[in-house]
Amino acid sequence: METWDVLVYDTTLRDGTQGEQINFSAEEKLRIAQRLDEMGFHYIEGGWPGSNPKDVRFFEMAKNVSFRHAHLTAFGSTRKPYIEASACPNIAALLQAETPAVAIFGKTWDLHISDILNVSLEENLVMIQDSVKYLKSKGKEVIFDAEHFFDGYKNNSAYARRVIETALSAGSDMIVLCDTNGGTMPHELTAIINEVISYIPPHLLGIHAHNDCGLAVANSLAAVHAGIRMVHGTINGYGERCGNADLISIIGNIQLKMSKRCLPEISIRELTHLSNYVSDVANVPPLNSRPFVGRSAFTHKGGVHVDAVLKNPAAYEHIKPELVGNHERVLVSDLSGKSNIAYKAEELGIDLGNEMSINRKIVQQIKIMEDQGYHFDSAEGSLSVLMKKIKGEFKEPFVLESFQVFNAKTGDNPPITQASIKISVEGEEELTAAEGNGPVNALDNALRKALTKFYPHIKEVHLVDFKVRILEGCEGTAAKVRVLIDSSDGQDIWSTIGVSTNIIEASWQALVDSIQYKLSKDEENEKGKV
Ligand SMILES: [Zn+2]
Repeated sequence: METWDVLVYDTTLRDGTQGEQINFSAEEKLRIAQRLDEMGFHYIEGGWPGSNPKDVRFFEMAKNVSFRHAHLTAFGSTRKPYIEASACPNIAALLQAETPAVAIFGKTWDLHISDILNVSLEENLVMIQDSVKYLKSKGKEVIFDAEHFFDGYKNNSAYARRVIETALSAGSDMIVLCDTNGGTMPHELTAIINEVISYIPPHLLGIHAHNDCGLAVANSLAAVHAGIRMVHGTINGYGERCGNADLISIIGNIQLKMSKRCLPEISIRELTHLSNYVSDVANVPPLNSRPFVGRSAFTHKGGVHVDAVLKNPAAYEHIKPELVGNHERVLVSDLSGKSNIAYKAEELGIDLGNEMSINRKIVQQIKIMEDQGYHFDSAEGSLSVLMKKIKGEFKEPFVLESFQVFNAKTGDNPPITQASIKISVEGEEELTAAEGNGPVNALDNALRKALTKFYPHIKEVHLVDFKVRILEGCEGTAAKVRVLIDSSDGQDIWSTIGVSTNIIEASWQALVDSIQYKLSKDEENEKGKV
């Protein structure tokens, strides 16, 4: 661990789950923890065993897993006031988690101690000292989180200093300065850290920043620049209110912009997959504009930009997208010309060869479809399938014989939705039915159920997002709808589109494109392996 300039401390599984939409089961937490470990994260905070049974269960399951790189960490508070640390249930829960490291937070801001905790400033120091000493006596690596450190420092710097010096002299291995309210400006944070560094060496310090002013990443990087060794954050910046510092951006910046090392290079190239994976497990659609890893992070639309990027990507890209596992995109509606279609095909990994007639057919077909309301800007899965079909190399993976969708609602009871579908694959028929929480979900379930027998990989695919838009310019009920579906197989995310006056038909087109895209992608990957 000593070879890394910066230690990465992930708290997606604890602080991240304070985010409004973020929920992980104990099993999901374990899967994420293993993935972070494989990538070389140094610390993984798994949860707060004293606060809920799910986290207790997570740590129970984690006892059977050996982590190769990461120190699994249990989080909790210092002992309660006026009792022995050995008699405190919070501390007992931390020990029962049986992790190599524990993180405890203590109050640093005098206002919190007198008005909220209701103990004397002296008792607060003793609580910190006792808790750290006791945990050290049990052989734990102890990380001390100085809660509200920067606010505390502004209010009473002498006391804030005593808090962290107490934790350090009691044996804490790391002192983490927390911007718990996320309200500190980078210049204030830097000034305070520089003062702290004058009495605590920076390799014993960490930063834990929240994003209430949109500054969590900036503040974390300012702390790293000042010499701080450990950075806390969450994948995708999930967390309470405006979130925690986004480790994806922090890692990208540390490694690619600041010439410091925190993870193996191979893991940096996995950042896009990691971000998508955690979005998937959290069931939160990925943010297209997320720095480094978002789908739009290296996407060019404006004519001047596209023209420049085609000549030299460095013109409008701050790094090579491949370094973080992302890729450059050019939006197709800005690519009306044939040479631009060739560029797009290459980007999607489709070889159109030198035959201009295929190229021309694709341009014509896109124009016709855009006239009908299709839009390939954000539906590259459909575009890829379309190009392959026109090229004539696409083998239809199945034939639809028929489907039926049944919706019923009686009184106040919840609606019931079922779909049945009949397909055939190379002459072999399959008839299945499935339920869903709506017609599209039921149809998707039935289709994938029917296909799994022939294509087991289909099981990995699930819908990430489903958007419906009514297209203007049509009359009343005959208005067309455009359905956009985002699907994922846990590795990649792709979008497909359908347009019709009937929402089920539009959804069906998008679903079929999604399945066809996945099967053709897998087939190519297989070929690539041979
Ligand atoms: Zn926090």
